[in-house]
Amino acid sequence: MTDQIARIDVPVAREPAIAHAIRELVIGNRILAHQGVLDAFGHVSVRHPANPERYLMPCSRGPALVVADDIIEYALDGTPIDQRGRPQYSERAIHGAIYLARPDVNAVVHNHSPAVIPFGVTGTVLRPIFHLGSVMGPDIPIWDITDKFGDGTDLLVIRNDVGASLARTLGGGRVVLMRGHGSAVAGRRLKEAVFIAVYMQLNAQLQLASTQLGGATKFLSPAEVARASAILLEPLGQERAWQTWSHAAGFTDV
Ligand SMILES: [Zn+2]
Repeated sequence: MTDQIARIDVPVAREPAIAHAIRELVIGNRILAHQGVLDAFGHVSVRHPANPERYLMPCSRGPALVVADDIIEYALDGTPIDQRGRPQYSERAIHGAIYLARPDVNAVVHNHSPAVIPFGVTGTVLRPIFHLGSVMGPDIPIWDITDKFGDGTDLLVIRNDVGASLARTLGGGRVVLMRGHGSAVAGRRLKEAVFIAVYMQLNAQLQLASTQLGGATKFLSPAEVARASAILLEPLGQERAWQTWSHAAGFTDV
């Protein structure tokens, strides 16, 4: 899709590593929109490749429409470094708080995937039900904003203390559900975070379908989760998925 590629080209003045990160971030946004994980809302960020105290995230725009010129550099407290008048996502605190708490995390996806929402509100636990779902990890915590901030919030993670609370519940894991809202996914790389977000959504769909069939659903055991996720979290599989999904999203040169 030549027109699309041209539109995500970044200025040549950018350092190559930053230009690469921006281009990948644009593609990651488009993939997650195409896969239905993100719609008009939700967002993706990456830690700045040259400065771990900053991160890169689009301005306030639907992820399917993001281009390179939309990417804003942020301090971890959510302060924009180069806003240039562009509107911002309100829930920046999700990203900064996770980067602050987790030096191993270099990409964050916040999404409102409809398939996942029921597992944050019913008491039915989201669990790995097939090998690709193992990347979520064995135990998936649920963060309920009312636990610390009471009833009557707007459910959004706008303040940094709210973000810090969410990051604490995420702990050392890769996924945290947000009751009545969505989820946050943390990856060591952008491709890993995208991979986990896509398969978390599919796992939720398959878990719902399986339990509707009746009988005793057999989930992956903790040992199976550990072995399967160790393989799937290697870059090889993630590259294959990234190429497939980016091609499907219109990036035929990836
Ligand atoms: Zn949200």
